[in-house]
Amino acid sequence: MYIVPEAMIADLVSREASFEAVEQVFAAMAAKDAYNFPVVREAIDHEDALYGFKGGFDRVGGSLGLKAGGYWPHNLEKRGLINHQSTVFLFDPDTGKVRAMVGGNLLTALRTAAASSVSIKHLARADAKVMGMIGAGHQATFQLRAALEQRSFEKVVGWNYHPEMLPNIEKVANEAGVPFEAVDLPGMADADVIISITSAFAPSLMADHVSPGTHLACMGTDTKGKQEVEAALLARAKVFTDEVAQSISIGEAQHAVAAGLIAESDVTEIGAVINGTHPGRTSDEDITLFDGTGVGLQDLAVASKVVDLAIERGVAIEVDF
Ligand code: NAD
Repeated sequence: MYIVPEAMIADLVSREASFEAVEQVFAAMAAKDAYNFPVVREAIDHEDALYGFKGGFDRVGGSLGLKAGGYWPHNLEKRGLINHQSTVFLFDPDTGKVRAMVGGNLLTALRTAAASSVSIKHLARADAKVMGMIGAGHQATFQLRAALEQRSFEKVVGWNYHPEMLPNIEKVANEAGVPFEAVDLPGMADADVIISITSAFAPSLMADHVSPGTHLACMGTDTKGKQEVEAALLARAKVFTDEVAQSISIGEAQHAVAAGLIAESDVTEIGAVINGTHPGRTSDEDITLFDGTGVGLQDLAVASKVVDLAIERGVAIEVDF
């Protein structure tokens, strides 16, 4: 088997490669060539940790496996380690033999940023100029960096619950040569694309903060009870997701569905837009909303790419196992 340690990932994988891998696997999911296994997520009653597995099989891309890991809230203060910890295991679909073990921390950020970028590519207006950010934490910097590559953005407007964190995303905007302005939530009405990536359990962005024609990528809500935007916004929008089952149970759509504002059948897999079997945005006035819940197949797709690159460059550690 091959081992690709966390420290090697940054030199191996690019935003472009992550984007390609995620776009392909979303398309494969919609074509029913790939599917995710039920997610396991457990509060293990030790170190207040949440631990679990996200797995799947992509018949076309040939990736089979899982990401194991979770959230250890005391890592940073107690041990100087990051709180999110994950590792990807890939298996040979023909034999069941383990193929690779890959550090999953940076990959998670890259594959999550790739997901919102794929949604912007396929759903945002071609003339989008103003990028809106809600959230300024670890993931937000990756999200913004990748999103700015999708359109000719001329300005970034940002809001965060903890305003002292806004310099994190201002720095990314400046590095990309795009001016940044901190705004209040009604200021999001100027945005053509909005990404939300927070750990909120109550909505910040309300339906009347969003202008017609906007594309939203709601990326923070990945657990029951979390919520970033008002449920009424989903009723105004064309709603897309990575996986419908997750969207309506642990994603942003859980609240709109529970309130009877939209039905499961109103939520479309983004892969259908990529494959051309759903038209996606049909007017410059449409509000489109991508509910990015995060699926195991994204992790496997990006990890497979990393293993191939590591082998090609002769840096993968090979172990007889
Ligand atoms: P982080 O701790 O670095 O940042 C958290 C962000 O949430 C900050 O901007 C913070 O100000 C904001 N926030 C905290 N409490 C809030 C509140 N009450 N109301 C509004 N905003 C609040 O975390 P991160 O690593 O950037 O992750 C952000 C979220 O993204 C987490 O909820 C995580 O579970 C989720 N996530 C989703 C995916 C996916 O695939 N969809 C992948 C990775 C992470």
